[in-house]
Amino acid sequence: METDQAGNLWATLRGKSDRAMLLGGHMDSVPNGGWLDGCLNVLGALEVLRRIASEGTPPVTVRLVDWADEEGARFGRSLFGSSAASGTMNPDDLRNLADKEGIKLVDAISKYGVNLDTAKQSGSQLKTAAAYLELHIEQGPVLESMNLPLGVVLGTFGVERHAIKFTGQSAHAGSTPMDKRRDAFGAAAKLGLEIREIAKRHGGVCTVGSVITKPGIVTAVVGQCDMLLDQRHLSAEELAKMLQEAKDASERFAKEENVGVEWNRIWQIQPILFDKHLVELAEEAVMETARVSHRLPSGPLHDAAEVSRAGIPTIMLFVQSLRGLSHTKEENTKEEHLSMSVQALDRLATKAMNWIVEAGK
Ligand SMILES: [Zn+2]
Repeated sequence: METDQAGNLWATLRGKSDRAMLLGGHMDSVPNGGWLDGCLNVLGALEVLRRIASEGTPPVTVRLVDWADEEGARFGRSLFGSSAASGTMNPDDLRNLADKEGIKLVDAISKYGVNLDTAKQSGSQLKTAAAYLELHIEQGPVLESMNLPLGVVLGTFGVERHAIKFTGQSAHAGSTPMDKRRDAFGAAAKLGLEIREIAKRHGGVCTVGSVITKPGIVTAVVGQCDMLLDQRHLSAEELAKMLQEAKDASERFAKEENVGVEWNRIWQIQPILFDKHLVELAEEAVMETARVSHRLPSGPLHDAAEVSRAGIPTIMLFVQSLRGLSHTKEENTKEEHLSMSVQALDRLATKAMNWIVEAGK
């Protein structure tokens, strides 16, 4: 057992080869979160590790990892441990983050022996990695709606997140005739509906999560409207099209309402596709366990996305979430499905070890 420079916890079972199969996920949760995201992935992986250990020395080294602070619930920055290890973390982005009490991230992690400036040295843990497997609850309604216990994850959605500002003219609600208004909310409302059509056309998801009107009183036409838009797709090309269509639509609506519009990118990440061969092996493992399988993308990001970005062949299995709920106490999965999910991970682990040996990876 060891803890690396980013606070990730590792358990290693030495095999005949140094090439390592990694299994794991995260143990942290969110305030008022459920019991499965992410305990299931680490504890499921632990059971697989125990099974492999009980059979003597495995052909490859098997390592269980519990990534530090996946959720980012306290400081608003997700995937701390895995992004440090993958090398995509920029310490300067995190240096000034503070929690609700004003305690800085740098001070909080130092209590656990983690130094922001050396956290990326945890990347050395990935040097021998030949594959990474992660089991997770789906956190959405797709598998349940198809009456399927398990699914194979193709990758994680790319994300475009923007702040959109419509600027019109605040004016008296009683004295300003309808055809003389420059109503910033009018344009925003049209865009709010249009992004749903854009998402449908391209098979992605688009969400307006926040709309703030100013001055925000019932007796004034809205002079300024600030909107937050989140767009996600598994294809980079389709994601770019969804963004362009939303921009074009916003300009059209701004013109119609005689207001201005301005876009600012808040955050962006490219789609991350998991390893093709591991997708096949995962499908075999799911078929052998449940006799039926389904391939689906992941909307939420996961540690697996970071490991994949580090160039390590990666795959995830999803197990059905009841009512598609997660990040709430109601999060749950049928016990028989939980048990099947760990069995499928176990089968996949054996297949992945054989693949690492055969492919000389
Ligand atoms: Zn999770």
